[in-house]
Amino acid sequence: MAVVQPLAGQASAAPTQDYRRLARAIFQELVEIKSTESGVGSTPAALAVARRLRAAGVAESDIQVIGPSPRKKNVVARLHGKGIGKPILLIGHLDVVEARREDWSPGLDPFKFVERDAYFYGRGTQDMKAGVAILVTNFIRWKQEGWVPDRDLIIALTADEEEYGDGDGIAWLLKNHRKLIEAEYCLNADSGDFQTRDGKPYMVTIAAGEKKETMIQLQTTNRGGHGSVPRKDNAIYELGNALKRIEQLQFPPMLNEVTRAEFAAMGALESGPDARDMVALAGDPADSTAIEHLSRDPYYNALIRTTCVPTMLEGGHGSSALPQRAKAVLNCRILPGHASADVMRAVRQAIGNDQVDVKWQFLEPSDWPTSPLNPAVFSAMNQLAQRLWPGVTVVPGLETGGTDGRFLRGAGIPTYGVAGAFLEQGDIRAHGRDERIRVRDFYDGVAFYDQFVKALANHE
Ligand SMILES: [Zn+2]
Repeated sequence: MAVVQPLAGQASAAPTQDYRRLARAIFQELVEIKSTESGVGSTPAALAVARRLRAAGVAESDIQVIGPSPRKKNVVARLHGKGIGKPILLIGHLDVVEARREDWSPGLDPFKFVERDAYFYGRGTQDMKAGVAILVTNFIRWKQEGWVPDRDLIIALTADEEEYGDGDGIAWLLKNHRKLIEAEYCLNADSGDFQTRDGKPYMVTIAAGEKKETMIQLQTTNRGGHGSVPRKDNAIYELGNALKRIEQLQFPPMLNEVTRAEFAAMGALESGPDARDMVALAGDPADSTAIEHLSRDPYYNALIRTTCVPTMLEGGHGSSALPQRAKAVLNCRILPGHASADVMRAVRQAIGNDQVDVKWQFLEPSDWPTSPLNPAVFSAMNQLAQRLWPGVTVVPGLETGGTDGRFLRGAGIPTYGVAGAFLEQGDIRAHGRDERIRVRDFYDGVAFYDQFVKALANHE
């Protein structure tokens, strides 16, 4: 491994070639570890990171490879500061979703790291081994530079994020090793959104909250019979009618501090009627005209309200038999501040039929708040963004999907999604085929995280 001269606490402006080489080597090593559920799990990736930290001089006692399952360990490491202020926690996840070679383009293998036409290809290049490589490279860099931040920095790279993370990953760490990861706040490189348009940095979103994913099961039952003698009562008709009612169900708009700020910033950035509606809604969260207009866009609608949509359907046991059972799953994404019990009540009420059995199929017990829009984090980002990418807009955002940030927010550690590396608008390939990241955007992410964390850790 290349070692540069310690800079005695001074930050250089851009990553040296050495750190680029190191970042690329870490990225490649991680992508080529098949850390999927059916592959080798996350432990080999955790051990690989631990090896690199150790080689860089991080003390053995500051590196923990831990977890309840041998296949799904996490790695947690600490860089000691001067003890001024509570630590900052940096998180990412080591696991990736499945990928099959035959589903990818010829010449690409999801678990072979390939550089082609100014892109890095491989499973995890977007979600989220690029982010992990960025964090690990910088951790090593800080150690080698001899930088002593005001406060401790903790890095936690976890298992099982893609599998809801409750058993082995961040939730397990919170429950069993809270002291190891206790922090004033957390930066989550798996969240937030750095967007380029035609290759140019355009928007930086810091995620300050997320919706809660739940599943509701609807089931109808019937005594059944022979298909030659049908009756009015029928499990499939009954379920179909219930779903028809769900189609009509629209949850009330519920803007919060984060989505108001998000609409205000997006409204200022964009132009046209949508932009006018966003500005209006940010000013008056009860503006019904703006709500009606923006709700026609599925993404804005998802920011404005809780949603429930059927995603799975099954029923009947034979094509010549009257069905005895029919079942559907609703995927519900609940806004922070909206109680799960109220969502369930609204679903039952909309269906309005006691014969339909309605119950939670998946519900994590706690509700998660949004994180306060911490001025230190946002002003550091604003200053750095204007220096690195003049004209870029910094936006607080609500994630419509879920990340490990929810567990931390639920445990009282405010969490900010800061991706670090830009992705091209419309080129989102996370969980998909031919996943890739621009080579330049990856290296810029390495440089960005170095400067961002240095600004935050020496703040106050
Ligand atoms: Zn992810």
